[in-house]
Amino acid sequence: MKKNRRPLVLANWKMNMQPEDVAPYLDVILPEVEKDEDADVAVAGQNLYLAQMVQQSKGSRLAIAAQDAHWEDKGAFTGETSPKALKAIGVSYVMIGHFERRKLFNETDERVNLKTKAALKNGLKPIVDLDEDLSAYDGQALDQVELGQLKKALDGISEEEMQNVAIAYEPTWAIGSGEAASAEQAEQSAALIRASLANLYNQDLADQTRILYGGSVNTDNAASFFKQEDIDGILVGKAALNPQTFLDLIDIAQ
Ligand code: PGA
Repeated sequence: MKKNRRPLVLANWKMNMQPEDVAPYLDVILPEVEKDEDADVAVAGQNLYLAQMVQQSKGSRLAIAAQDAHWEDKGAFTGETSPKALKAIGVSYVMIGHFERRKLFNETDERVNLKTKAALKNGLKPIVDLDEDLSAYDGQALDQVELGQLKKALDGISEEEMQNVAIAYEPTWAIGSGEAASAEQAEQSAALIRASLANLYNQDLADQTRILYGGSVNTDNAASFFKQEDIDGILVGKAALNPQTFLDLIDIAQ
């Protein structure tokens, strides 16, 4: 079944990159991304660069992602970003519930759910981040497993809407630590997430949903993740700050 899921490679720049870094980065990757037809590629930049990134990558296969978006389309929410406005400027994906947002900005499961719904309503494709150490549930029967973040994030989201949702599994200790999960650990969690999707929806839906691994992915370990049955993509922070390394990771995905 895995063969029917297109790999997704997502660079998360976080709050990195200066204005002068943005265009040269895209200059390096755009010609190569055009050749990489067997994977979807996206870059998530700071909000202030997104319009420029969309312009520069117009007509290409590169998709631009936001790192977060609000759950309302507009209103008195100083400092926030409207999903409707993101869609209007040509952003394709939005990350929701990244560990750093949950930990540093008090992102709650309820808000992750509201933001996921708002993104879908506006035609953005959410990448919903789960940061629990799911492997801690090892050995428990699936129906006893409280895949809390997953269940809450997807509450009220229809099977049809789920066609546009990807899930990212990121063990908290692996993010930015230089110490990735082993491919086996990551696969165990991805399989658990997929089984849980089958429970929440059905097997077909579970088989179609892309599940990404994130946390210290680099060119040494990326291939081992792509070999896993249930891992369909990677969410890359630090290693993707170098455009050449990001290209190498895209090559590995195919
Ligand atoms: P990292 O970041 O690749 O630097 O661990 C991943 C992430 O935060 O999504």
